Amino acid sequence: MMIEEKPKKNSGIEWWAERTKKLLDEQKASWPLLKINYENLANIQIREFIFDDFEIKIQYNPDRIKSTSADVSDGAIKSRKCFLCLENLPVEQNGLAYNKHFFILSNPHPIFPAHFTISRRIHTTQTIIGNFEELLDLTRALGKYYTLFYNGPQCGSSAPDHMHFQACTKNIMPVEYEFNKMVSKLPGAATGNGKIEIRFFEEFLRYFISFESRDEDELLFAFKTFVNAFKKISPPYDEPLMNLIASYQENVWRVLIFPRQKHRPTHFFAEGEKQLLISPAAVDMGGLFIAPREEDFKKITPEDVIDIFKQVSISKEYFGFLKEKIGEVIA
Ligand SMILES: [Zn+2]
Repeated sequence: MMIEEKPKKNSGIEWWAERTKKLLDEQKASWPLLKINYENLANIQIREFIFDDFEIKIQYNPDRIKSTSADVSDGAIKSRKCFLCLENLPVEQNGLAYNKHFFILSNPHPIFPAHFTISRRIHTTQTIIGNFEELLDLTRALGKYYTLFYNGPQCGSSAPDHMHFQACTKNIMPVEYEFNKMVSKLPGAATGNGKIEIRFFEEFLRYFISFESRDEDELLFAFKTFVNAFKKISPPYDEPLMNLIASYQENVWRVLIFPRQKHRPTHFFAEGEKQLLISPAAVDMGGLFIAPREEDFKKITPEDVIDIFKQVSISKEYFGFLKEKIGEVIA
């Protein structure tokens, strides 16, 4: 386990993306398990479901079984060693110290040709409140090659006790490469004030919101407005359930927000033939379903996808409420 600090003199805008890319190459050369898992991923099977004019992909990925089926109950979390704490990382794992708060680590169980975990140096609860600015900062730093994502502690994160983001190869999730096409199908223009564009997506099986801006403060304010509105319709004390996908291109951030009403669909808990071990997180909401069992990969149907999205995505009524509240503040 080695953590490398950034040299002071190399501070170009693309330094982090380049160094992170190199980290993965180094780890493939020095860490046999990671190398094998990336090789296996290259031969992985994919199914595609085409809905009216967008697609959902299903990836058969047996290496993700632990993450998908993780017991994230309080009891289970307290009784296991935290796999993101420095002292518990595999000896082969090396990382980059990003800033005072985060380490960049190669994910040894990849979903993407490049997949990283970006975890807090100290063991502290998974939350986006107080960390959204860090997300924007990381997204810009890695934006040349990578997209960042966040899974809320109760909707997809397998380490809800240790704050982390993930980063992956850009433009692989369908929602990313189909974004402009989706925007062209929206009935109205974006909500905004000239400094930020906000869009509400209601026609693509799950509800989501996009923020696009080159102004960090506008994004922080819009996100705060969203969280405050969402808190009003969420159980008190807990972080409202959400997944985020953030990218950065031509000096513009794009943040996609998927508000959720629950973590796992009934399919996950069903028994026997009816069970589908699918546990939606940001990647699945982004249009890439992960099926760690071959039987599920083979039997899942477009109707299952529709039903799973319907169960885990926020309701139409609540989405309407968020739209209204955000519109009142930012217009
Ligand atoms: Zn930890």
